[in-house]
Amino acid sequence: MLRNADLESSVLSSPETLPLYSIERIAQSPVLVVAPHPDDECLGCGGAIALLQSLGCNVQILVVSDGAMSHPNSHKYPAAVLRSLRAAETQSAMQILGIEASHIQFLGLPDGAVPTPEDPGFDEAVLACWRYLEAIAPQVIFLPWRQDPHADHRATWQILQAALQQSHSGISTALRILEYPIWDWDLTQRGDGLNPEMVNAWRLDIQTVVELKQEAIAAYRSQTTELIDDDPQGFRLSADMLKHFSHPWEIYLENQP
Ligand SMILES: [Zn+2]
Repeated sequence: MLRNADLESSVLSSPETLPLYSIERIAQSPVLVVAPHPDDECLGCGGAIALLQSLGCNVQILVVSDGAMSHPNSHKYPAAVLRSLRAAETQSAMQILGIEASHIQFLGLPDGAVPTPEDPGFDEAVLACWRYLEAIAPQVIFLPWRQDPHADHRATWQILQAALQQSHSGISTALRILEYPIWDWDLTQRGDGLNPEMVNAWRLDIQTVVELKQEAIAAYRSQTTELIDDDPQGFRLSADMLKHFSHPWEIYLENQP
């Protein structure tokens, strides 16, 4: 994938120029939000989740990987403990946004190794998602941006895309797919796929719930604080990165060619 070709040509370099719409633009039900890691649903779509929930939409959350690689060297939080912690954090975060635990599904794929079509495990993951999609029958799906710099995000998009292509029933023909950027916000990683001539990007107004979204993000204590303090290589969302998810709007990409 090409990287850093022309950062100024990204829709993320001047987001305030993108059109701003209200939640009515996408208020259909059921809604499915797909997160590659436990926290992406909150960072990328927390405002949309809270607003759709408040309108009475049936909002379902699918967390694809187990998040167990964020602190691989921690003795206090070995993989099994970290996996449980991150699932509990998702439940806390979603509770803040009004989503019940029964509306959250954890696929449990390995963090850092979500399978691509070339990998073993891809077909099984597609099948699991296909079954899930048939049961939920969403009208709107939020997916990670297909060219996100993080491989797990791209693989998640591929799994869901393959599952959607296999669905003949249960999925609406009017299905709306919205993609949300995460790691393209980081200038050191930003790809060149978000060229305004290539993507239809717009902003969702989340002004009324932006504080609630910040509260929900803070529920991911393992990712935003020094909670796990025995792994110097452990992952932590930087203040700079978190700033991008504190705006009174969220960015969505739609109708990719
Ligand atoms: Zn992620």
